[in-house]
Amino acid sequence: MHDSWHDFFAESPDVLKTDRRPQTVVRVLGVEIGGDEFVTMAGPCSVETEAQLLATAHHVRRAGARVLRGGAFKPRSSPYSFQGLGREGLKLLDKARRETGLAIVTEVMSEDDVPLVAEYADILQIGSRNMENFTLLEAAARSGRPILLKRGMVATIADMLRSAQCVLANGNPNVILCERGIRTFETATRNTFDVAAIALLKQVSHLPVVADPSHAAGHRELVPALARIAVAAEADSLIVEVHPNPNKAWSDGEQTLDFSAFDAMMASLKPYIALRADHLALSRADALMEAVG
Ligand code: PEP
Ligand code: MN
Repeated sequence: MHDSWHDFFAESPDVLKTDRRPQTVVRVLGVEIGGDEFVTMAGPCSVETEAQLLATAHHVRRAGARVLRGGAFKPRSSPYSFQGLGREGLKLLDKARRETGLAIVTEVMSEDDVPLVAEYADILQIGSRNMENFTLLEAAARSGRPILLKRGMVATIADMLRSAQCVLANGNPNVILCERGIRTFETATRNTFDVAAIALLKQVSHLPVVADPSHAAGHRELVPALARIAVAAEADSLIVEVHPNPNKAWSDGEQTLDFSAFDAMMASLKPYIALRADHLALSRADALMEAVG
């Protein structure tokens, strides 16, 4: 890594890559995020019903996903929108995990909910709206569960790394950084997918990077292309919204893939994932050559 990045991100020293700490691998239920294998996380925006969740879980597992996403506590822009099933949603996620073996990632929105959500989730998601909620970050960190930290919609890369530093400083080394698009003057897409952030994070940080093309795009027809771009930028993982009937979804339907669109996306990713593996092997060989001089 170029020295100037060390100065630029000086407030987050522990998240930066070093010779001693080239890459963090987050392990949950036999899945390694940040390891050699590319990991797909998929599932509905919100947990709605048992039938919806289980059908989605079985489908995405068959298509190659390793982690099931789904919100039981939903941060919504309107107080009149669906707020999530709460504990009932967590129980459905647990059932889906038992039936499919998929690990579970789900959002925790408040400090008070951390013990409950941590009891059910394999990975705690901190949402964009809470990226700088340091009391929540501290409580989530101390639960011991890995943290999927979503970039705030108006957060810089340095802001995100400061939040990651807060988790590490509270004794939790397992942080996954999530690029999910940021607010810009562009309104045709829901957010602006910051692909440079993915490339930069992979260069400067040892933490695994996951890309969320669904919230970045806001439109389902854009999701597969953004997913391919994320793999090409060397993200370790993807998190994608999938639902049996997106037009009937209780939240974020317009950006959600149905089963066949998810299958098509997974198939289209294959050559990109193969290239990523080649590139990883090459850069590892380079690092070895450098080490032996
Ligand atoms: C979500 O993952 O459904 C979500 C609410 O994401 P974000 O916090 O990135 O808006
Ligand atoms: Mn969503």
